[in-house]
Amino acid sequence: ETFDSMGLHENLLRGIYAYGFEKPSTIQQRGIVPFCKGIDVIQQAQSGTGKTATFCSGILQQLDYNNVECQALVLAPTRELAQQIEKVMRALGDYLQVKVHACVGGTDVRQDQRILQAGVHVVVGTPGRVYDMLRRRALRPDYIKMFVLDEADEMLSRGFKDQIYDIFQLLPSKVQVGLFSATMPPEALEITRKFMNKPVRILV
Ligand code: AMP
Repeated sequence: ETFDSMGLHENLLRGIYAYGFEKPSTIQQRGIVPFCKGIDVIQQAQSGTGKTATFCSGILQQLDYNNVECQALVLAPTRELAQQIEKVMRALGDYLQVKVHACVGGTDVRQDQRILQAGVHVVVGTPGRVYDMLRRRALRPDYIKMFVLDEADEMLSRGFKDQIYDIFQLLPSKVQVGLFSATMPPEALEITRKFMNKPVRILV
């Protein structure tokens, strides 16, 4: 399997190759195509497997670039990880002119509000700040069609369960969910049961 054979947009492929990737990793070979089809995916994978590019590609492939509204939301357990994902999303989406913003704690709330109101396609963030932006209506959930939980086990062990549930309640009910987790503790399984629709499970 190659990136070329996945049916990805030419400008997404250009971004992938320009980033320096030549061949998809195992998780990318198995995960990108189902994600691009809008299927809910559970990917049990450690970091270092290429999971970030898996969900970033799946999101970038499915965005409507003519609509500058938030269509994809990615949650991560730490500020650093959220900012790292933002960078990868921006790099892979460089030729698509994707607009991405990281909403993380410890930064100016008003600046987040301004950037979101000016319009983005993708928001990456930590659960607390993302929930705050949703609650303030700075982040409007109406067009969100993809929701990724990265390092779900780590988010749950950091006590973000309630905020994750609160965020799910605010999203459109038919949202596509991607759940990435190194381990599958009971609380992670509960999320898959409560909020995911016929998920495929990929173990790498
Ligand atoms: P991740 O699991 O997403 O944290 O990625 C781990 C590391 O692997 C990162 O440094 C990526 O840039 C790199 N990586 C991911 N996919 C590929 C690929 N297809 N080819 C080469 N490096 C990759």
